[in-house]
Amino acid sequence: MKHRDEFLKYLCQTSGEPDGLEVTSAEGSWITDAAGKRYLDWLAGISVCNVGHRHPAVLRAVRAQLDCYLHVMVYGEYVQVPQIELARLLCELAPFSEAQVYFTSSGAEAVEGALKVARKHTRRSKIVAFENSYHGDTLGALSAMGKPELRKPFEPLLETEFLPFGQDQALAQIDERVAVVLVEPIQAEGGVRVPPEGFLPAVRRRCDQTGALLIFDEVQTGLGRTGLCWGGEHWGVTPDLLVLAKALGGGLPLGAFLGPRLIMATLSKDPPLSHLTTFGGHPLCCAAGLAALKVMQDQDLPRNAREQGEIALRALMELKAAGLITDARGRGLLLGMELSSVQRARSVVEGCHRAGLLVGSALHDERVLRLTPPLTMSHGELVRGLDILTAILGESRRT
Ligand code: PMP
Repeated sequence: MKHRDEFLKYLCQTSGEPDGLEVTSAEGSWITDAAGKRYLDWLAGISVCNVGHRHPAVLRAVRAQLDCYLHVMVYGEYVQVPQIELARLLCELAPFSEAQVYFTSSGAEAVEGALKVARKHTRRSKIVAFENSYHGDTLGALSAMGKPELRKPFEPLLETEFLPFGQDQALAQIDERVAVVLVEPIQAEGGVRVPPEGFLPAVRRRCDQTGALLIFDEVQTGLGRTGLCWGGEHWGVTPDLLVLAKALGGGLPLGAFLGPRLIMATLSKDPPLSHLTTFGGHPLCCAAGLAALKVMQDQDLPRNAREQGEIALRALMELKAAGLITDARGRGLLLGMELSSVQRARSVVEGCHRAGLLVGSALHDERVLRLTPPLTMSHGELVRGLDILTAILGESRRT
């Protein structure tokens, strides 16, 4: 590829083996590379492109906002209608009454803000998170990273206790010193781990008993990906604070944390100006996000995620029954398929890539391929992707 050497030379590399796909265009569920090859995109920027690439409604909203204004002032000072409209719609959808939204530019930054709100509101400091979690890579969010080897080089970090995800007995360790319990309703980078039925209700109960605030990190599970608007809805559990990013900006960088006004108010007093950002809630990103959220509602994308997800999961279960994969799990279009080894997972990713299907491993468990296609994916695209997966799995078993 034409620019690969420069990519390796000028961009700080974080991966030993970057994918290196040279993108020239993207539309709907498809990405085209510099050689003109088209790929069915089942990564979708890792749960970002819920409405597909370059959705026409998002493009229209961005163009209209370009003609009005871009950045005019730091977050929270000027009245900017795209921010207000998106915040209002989010508050209407939010699981708590009297909600308020704080906009950020990324998921990690939204996690940071939510952690600060929880610590200031409770006047406690300790964080509880879960093994195998991923909440972002800034120092606060990294403190809650459930993979010790990724934390180690940066310690000392914030005081965090890690509990096993999905085990009710361990929740007794949440006590009155704990400010906040931070959890993904379904662990995405942990390998698409769906908790047992009673787990999240038990976390909620323990937080109520001890006065700790419960944060749901819905950066991947939120906004329809799991077949309902919020991942936590599958278990009927309402958090105290909700963290969003990824799909929120409709393909532009945007994050948010939201909660009841009573809790969020802590940022404006004792002292005021307790959390500031220059670019959080950028008007262009909010305009794009509002358009994407309306598409989600108008086209009932959670329902499409549910329906396509059920078909996909059934097909994956058949692959499991045929001995081609070791497990399949997930909700809606947040799906994981587990292979018998890292080596086999790698060869399947490469095979799919060659065959024109983009898939990739979960960060904390390379044996698990995390499938997160656009929620706008058609049935035909689903069948095409499943056909490729099945063919490649069959091939890689023979090698
Ligand atoms: N939380 C979760 C659950 C995530 O998956 C991620 C990103 N993969 C983040 C937080 C951090 O988001 P960002 O990369 O936008 O900082």
